[in-house]
Amino acid sequence: MDFQIEARHSGSEARTGVLCTPHGEVRTPAFVAVATRATVKALSPADLREVGVQLLIGNTYHLYLRPGPEVVAVLGGLHGFSGWAGPWMTDSGGFQVFSLGAGKEHGVGKIAPIFPGDEPPKPTGPSLVRLTEEGVRFRSVVDGAWITFTPEEVIRIQRFLGADIILPLDECTSPFHDRAYTEAAMERTHRWAERALRAFEDTQGLGPNPGQVLYGIVQGGAYEDLRRRSARVIGGLSFSGFAIGGSLGRSKGDMLGVIEWTVDELPGEKPRHLLGIGGVEDILEAVKRGIDTFDCAAPTRMARNGTLLTFEAEGFRLNIKNSRFRHDGRPIEEGCDCPTCRAHSRAFLHHLLRTGELSYFRLATLHNLRFMVRLMAAIRARIAAGKSLEVGGLREDLVGP
Ligand SMILES: [Zn+2]
Repeated sequence: MDFQIEARHSGSEARTGVLCTPHGEVRTPAFVAVATRATVKALSPADLREVGVQLLIGNTYHLYLRPGPEVVAVLGGLHGFSGWAGPWMTDSGGFQVFSLGAGKEHGVGKIAPIFPGDEPPKPTGPSLVRLTEEGVRFRSVVDGAWITFTPEEVIRIQRFLGADIILPLDECTSPFHDRAYTEAAMERTHRWAERALRAFEDTQGLGPNPGQVLYGIVQGGAYEDLRRRSARVIGGLSFSGFAIGGSLGRSKGDMLGVIEWTVDELPGEKPRHLLGIGGVEDILEAVKRGIDTFDCAAPTRMARNGTLLTFEAEGFRLNIKNSRFRHDGRPIEEGCDCPTCRAHSRAFLHHLLRTGELSYFRLATLHNLRFMVRLMAAIRARIAAGKSLEVGGLREDLVGP
């Protein structure tokens, strides 16, 4: 895979570029839509193309459980199986180690706040994960059976799934792990990274997509020396790009530090992915610090829950369930060119959600993904033009003064 940097921003570390994958190009900075089970919930591949999505990320753990990597491989890999013939990524299952393990013990995870503050939330249950040097044992969420993932097995599974960009097994730590634990987990993740690279070499030619590439994952929690060391170790290995994983700390300030330390140590010419972040301001701050791609389930999950993204509203979101939208004939966002805003009013979406109509899910998801795609395009244009990467300027670009 080739990554070409096209423009560098004056006044920040931001850059625009093109990721060339075996299934097409991705213009960066880019938002990666989450397709956990090989589909973006409520949308078809044609819908995704229409709103301009460039890249999807599937979930190795869920696809391993159902339908199984052999089924996906026989049906043409994720591209053939899902009908999305554009670029795919798959994650490694490392986040599931976290959310079924320490995430439960520490009461943090996908639904809990990403930045929980200083007080640990209550545990949501006992850990369902057993970690050893060899790998990780999980309880299946489907039938409760124990499953073992090793770094080698996770590569083999992803060879069969056939995504263009794949990730090695890592251990994602919680913001409430202490320094000693975070360091031990990081060192183990480094040993797993070397095993994953060897397994990747050993399985060249296996599966439906011989052109796939492997990114490395940097760990180290919110500890500066650990993050820098992890970025130097992982950055020194023969990965095609890098992802920033694990705990990003207990606050947004911690997260920005983590990004700065990591980017500072990584090779400058390779792509950088930030796992699990998708808020407008977080994306802007991360782009300014040199991040190229982002994945986050929030925009699509929020759509299904009634939260629609718009530059006009406070916090970039409006709750379409609110009765003040009952008679509102305006589109979700003036100036949005998505199929939903072109044809439908807020009042109609309010009605669909209130009455439980299935079409609501598709129309809402189309808009929120188009919002993310337009946001990233506006960011790229501002980087190339040397304009400031502030919310005010972006808002003007997208909805007018
Ligand atoms: Zn729209």
